[in-house]
Amino acid sequence: MSAEIFDVLIVGGGPAGSTLAWTLRDQGLNIAILDKATFPRDKICAGWVTPAVMQELELDLADYQKAHTLQPIFGFRVSQIGKREVETRYSDTPASYSIRRCEFDHYLLERARDTAGAELILGEKFKTMEKVSDYWLVNGTHKARLVIGAGGHFCPVVRAMGAKLGNSETIVAAQEIEFEMTAEQAAASPIEADVPELFFCEDLLGYGWVVRKGNFLNVGLGREDNHKLSEHVAKFRQQLVDSGKIPAETPLKFHGHAYILYPRATRPLLKDGVMIIGDAAGLAYPESGEGIRPAVESAILAAQIISQAEGDYSQTTLQAYQQKLEARLGKRGAKELMDFLPSWLKQSLAGALLTTHWFVRNYVVERWFLHSDQAPLAGSTIPSNTPH
Ligand SMILES: Cc1cc2nc3c(=O)[nH]c(=O)nc-3n(C[C@H](O)[C@H](O)[C@H](O)COP(=O)(O)OP(=O)(O)OC[C@H]3O[C@@H](n4cnc5c(N)ncnc54)[C@H](O)[C@@H]3O)c2cc1C
Repeated sequence: MSAEIFDVLIVGGGPAGSTLAWTLRDQGLNIAILDKATFPRDKICAGWVTPAVMQELELDLADYQKAHTLQPIFGFRVSQIGKREVETRYSDTPASYSIRRCEFDHYLLERARDTAGAELILGEKFKTMEKVSDYWLVNGTHKARLVIGAGGHFCPVVRAMGAKLGNSETIVAAQEIEFEMTAEQAAASPIEADVPELFFCEDLLGYGWVVRKGNFLNVGLGREDNHKLSEHVAKFRQQLVDSGKIPAETPLKFHGHAYILYPRATRPLLKDGVMIIGDAAGLAYPESGEGIRPAVESAILAAQIISQAEGDYSQTTLQAYQQKLEARLGKRGAKELMDFLPSWLKQSLAGALLTTHWFVRNYVVERWFLHSDQAPLAGSTIPSNTPH
């Protein structure tokens, strides 16, 4: 057992965990990040991020793209599967970027280590946490005053809080594949790297995508109803092959993962000495399923509360995190307009609207996917603090 007591032990080194450590970089806190994986590690994800995320992360794009794939996006092609496609283009600045998660997450984790002095404990699975006087003992080895659950959808810290993951939760189940095309496949591909393609399911319970990042192709489908997901995915893959959008040799086996849309989340967010951020809390945007931005934002908000707490990590002090999160993302459990519409009406409305340029540009792309009505979150630079 180590004698050192960490102020903050973050379980999970994805975008949520690394952003929390990085945001706390000038707070004089002793931080560790524990992850079961060694990095670089892969993560099932289309890898689409908005400029707001890059701004919130203060990411130096010129530096990043020296050694990593950074595909600017200047438009989206949108349709209902098998129906007419509508294209929206932007000319001045990128509307979004595509990144590869194996690179992006590694870059952010190393930056957290370099800027915040975070100790990286990699290749170690979180197993247990028990309260010992005024600190937590994690895995019988690591001592910490505050434990952060940033372990993604199956976060073991949420489980350790007594939450039953999976049983009664409404999830998005998704499957995808990312592979490097051969030179011939790349030359023949009709997919423009700066115009990803989105294909809504007829019942509007999900959508598929084809995203090209240089010579890498990412193909996937996610649905809010995981019934027969593999069949939906296989059918979608075949439709893409038949229409010439993806090579016939595209692997048959896609990889699956799940996550929770924010309005459906019922997971606990905090208790004495514990906070939950990112996918572990279930924060993805309901319309697009984008989860990286809410993960990053929850980390920034949590860091602000930790900084103000001055070492008091009681539930009463940490409660402000939930308030900040709800002020940003809305009340948890709130119903959306779409929830009140009968499915036949949604389907017929969508069928018509998804073929109009106005609706696709102003609602699907700008509101649902880019969230252009929501300015990037300020506050990822917290004034420096002396150690407690
Ligand atoms: C198919 C698919 C496509 C997606 N596409 C997009 C997209 O294009 N854009 C977007 O914004 N979002 C997308 N998302 C959502 C996005 O991937 C997540 O919202 C995002 O990864 C959340 O980040 P996080 O840091 O909270 O969790 P994660 O990135 O999941 O990181 C959690 C970390 O915790 C670690 N961990 C887990 N269990 C343990 C344990 N027991 N012990 C120690 N460590 C543990 C893991 O190894 C991992 O490194 C997609 C999701 C799926 C499933």
